[in-house]
Amino acid sequence: MGRLLVVDLTTGGVGEETLQQEYADRFVGGSGLAARYIYDLTDSDTDPLGPENPLLLMAGPLVGTKAPSCSRYVVCARSPQTGLWGESNIGGFLAPQLRCAGYDGIVVRGRAERPVYLLIGDAQAELRDASSLWGSDTYTTQEAIKTQLGDPSWRVACIGQAGENLVKYSSIMADEGRAAGRSGMGAVMGSKRLKAVACRGSGAIPLAEPEMFERSAQDAVALLRDDVSTRVFRETGTAGSANVMSMFGNMPNRYFRQGTFDEVDKISGSTISETILVGTSGCYGCVVQCGRKVRISEGTYRLEETDGPEYETVAALGSLLLIDDLAAICHMNHLCNSYGMDTISTGVTLGLAFHLYEEGIIGGRDTDGLTLRWGDPEPAIRLIELAARREGLGDLLAEGSLALAKRYGFEELAAQVNGLEVGMHDPRASSGVTLSYLTSPRGACHNKSDTYWLDVGRTMEDLDIGMTDRFEEEGLAELVARHQNWRSACDSLVSCFLPYLPSDNLAELLSAATGREVAKKDLLRTGERILNLKRLLNLRWGLEVDNERLPGLLMEPLSDGGTAGHVPDVQRVLTDYYRIRQWDRRTGRPAMDKMQELGLKDVAGEVY
Ligand code: SF4
Repeated sequence: MGRLLVVDLTTGGVGEETLQQEYADRFVGGSGLAARYIYDLTDSDTDPLGPENPLLLMAGPLVGTKAPSCSRYVVCARSPQTGLWGESNIGGFLAPQLRCAGYDGIVVRGRAERPVYLLIGDAQAELRDASSLWGSDTYTTQEAIKTQLGDPSWRVACIGQAGENLVKYSSIMADEGRAAGRSGMGAVMGSKRLKAVACRGSGAIPLAEPEMFERSAQDAVALLRDDVSTRVFRETGTAGSANVMSMFGNMPNRYFRQGTFDEVDKISGSTISETILVGTSGCYGCVVQCGRKVRISEGTYRLEETDGPEYETVAALGSLLLIDDLAAICHMNHLCNSYGMDTISTGVTLGLAFHLYEEGIIGGRDTDGLTLRWGDPEPAIRLIELAARREGLGDLLAEGSLALAKRYGFEELAAQVNGLEVGMHDPRASSGVTLSYLTSPRGACHNKSDTYWLDVGRTMEDLDIGMTDRFEEEGLAELVARHQNWRSACDSLVSCFLPYLPSDNLAELLSAATGREVAKKDLLRTGERILNLKRLLNLRWGLEVDNERLPGLLMEPLSDGGTAGHVPDVQRVLTDYYRIRQWDRRTGRPAMDKMQELGLKDVAGEVY
């Protein structure tokens, strides 16, 4: 579209600027392009919750087109949760509306005096008063704005009470349970008193080679329709993987003290489908429809039709706390979605609290009398409410697991890397997951190299990324680096990781959309460039090489289950990885030769 919407909440100014084509050529869109802009807009002192921290919502060059599963967007800023690179990827329908309104992204700066929301329509962008919405949950907020605007076709992304209260792992929610969950982007929005962004556009998205694009898009849709994983994800959602994850010891439970969950059948995706599923939902232009619609018709956790949990959530709010009551997990998922809280970080922080309680490190005096008993949903529900409102113990829980562990002098018990709680894939179950957690730009991210799919045979032969022996460390660093480069390119497009669109196909779609000839090797190189740029940003913000490690909790071998006796050789895989990346093992800096090779010399200066 060639334009960014630029909003200054302090002055109330809303304007636009021309997209810097040279940035788009080198960083494409999504989180790559966001990183390049954020490099210009921040310095080492940028306060993540200060008005100076820019918040970027970025679409990609395929968003809103017929390219299937390519219409997500990213929200990026310096993270208040980690102090490092913050990035969260969200689906739904808002990004296509944004592009149809004429913009590739939004840059938000400053802080409003009173709560506002940003309205973006055709030839219209303005700030509106949101005082009456402050204090509302995310579902109520979306409905209220649509009612105010008199048309349900508006798409709204918003924060709930958690974002308003600056809960460090608060999310931004949109559409049918879609979440920008990780790294606290909801808190950045809350710090700016920006309650929501509402968008609706009706313009066309120009394509450089429309006929070629149409052919490529049809090929891509046909490929996805034929792919067996499309059917699996539609029928059982991502939680359909729970059984195999558990078998491999990859489904954390009892706060990472076990990896194989005996009760997995009670909370798996198949069970959801057979018992409480009433429908599916999906993002714009996706044939998969992995979203769950569930209803709990009776009992304590009765719920009208609402958005159901995905794999990370059934593990984080279920197995991790030894909760095997699917209705209770759905209830907690709904609470987190309503308040706007990342379910992974919520579950890990609660799990740590339960563990500290079991060990006698905290007691009733710390929990306002709550008994934290494994498998009991009631205290978990109460803790979610307290954290969202920052009441009592909730004020500490709202800071995340690392702060909680430090408060009681047990830092090694916080299941995090660089301040971000690990996803629901036990690093002891896969050395590739370990390396991904250690080196992802946003901390312990399970998505930047999701090797747990390779471990179960979802390979990417077109990228020479084959099936892995999950404990094998020889050659692993090269594979993970390549995988990360690809995922990083996908985050710039912004395409979904779940469906498997071959790299040649994506390159063809991008070429046809932009008129610039791109091959998969170019996309891999772009991904590498973006990862190194995020590395530079993290070094600017104080990334320490010594923090790229697993905490003691996750370095203890488990006695049984699918990982019995195994711990990854962290030093070996990291040393290999640094060599392949050409990063200095002591300082963490990329070599200047590498910067030159990637065309990053213009931004590398400050870290040398
Ligand atoms: S697979 Fe699921 S998350 Fe990905 S684009 Fe499709 S519906 Fe959205």
